[in-house]
Amino acid sequence: MMMKVVLWSFEILKSLDMRKTIVLFSVFLFLGINFSSAQKKAKKVEPTDPKQTEVWTPVPVVVTPGQVNSSAPSDAVVIFDGTNTDAFEHLDGSPIKWTLNGDGSITVTPKSGDIRTKASFGSFQLHIEWRTPSVVKGEGQGRGNSGIFLQDKYEVQVLDSYNNLTYSNGQASSIYKQTMPLVNACRPPGEWQSYDIIYKAPKFNKKGVKTSSAYVTVIQNGILTHNNTKIQGTTPYIGWPKNPPHEDGPLKLQDHGDLVSYRNIWLRKL
Ligand code: MG
Repeated sequence: MMMKVVLWSFEILKSLDMRKTIVLFSVFLFLGINFSSAQKKAKKVEPTDPKQTEVWTPVPVVVTPGQVNSSAPSDAVVIFDGTNTDAFEHLDGSPIKWTLNGDGSITVTPKSGDIRTKASFGSFQLHIEWRTPSVVKGEGQGRGNSGIFLQDKYEVQVLDSYNNLTYSNGQASSIYKQTMPLVNACRPPGEWQSYDIIYKAPKFNKKGVKTSSAYVTVIQNGILTHNNTKIQGTTPYIGWPKNPPHEDGPLKLQDHGDLVSYRNIWLRKL
């Protein structure tokens, strides 16, 4: 094939006079230089300002959810059924200081810190329900903010995104600072909402290089918000996604200073 191309190119050049050859050569040179400089431009400089990784347009359209409720199936690992918080710990290994409510839910105790499961997981199907405060305070990222970190690293955002504009890749159901949800499937503040998350863990080789990305599908309140979305790496507030190698990891829930509640947390290992 390569030989054919070479012969074909040679025939074309033979058929052209010197002036046309020079013109043709200049065109190829111009295209080559531009391609090379475009490649250089594509190399992104690490951001130092959080605004550099915010995407404000387009804004996902609003879809009103129906009523859903889902309790654990027989083969699920029940992480939280409302009776105790034994499956969780703070990041320093201490017992959690979040509030266990009488209605089968737990609520973030602001400034007590994130909590994580004691157990670690690979790929899974996760069901989790969450509720932002009915008393609306703050705006943007400061309204009902929490988050669900898959394998301790990849945040599916929890936020009161009901009539609350923020950067699209930071609203509820976003893969934080990476991928905005397909639609805005949020219920009003104070109402229970659900995420059903199908997560495929990334793979790394022995040298610690990622050989297979993580993928995630998210259904919020029965509405698809991510359809097998590729997770580019970690989800930092400032900076690009990173890909440190890791094994199985815990499920982490974020204390962002807001009184967000959770209930009915279970997963099925895949
Ligand atoms: Mg968050």
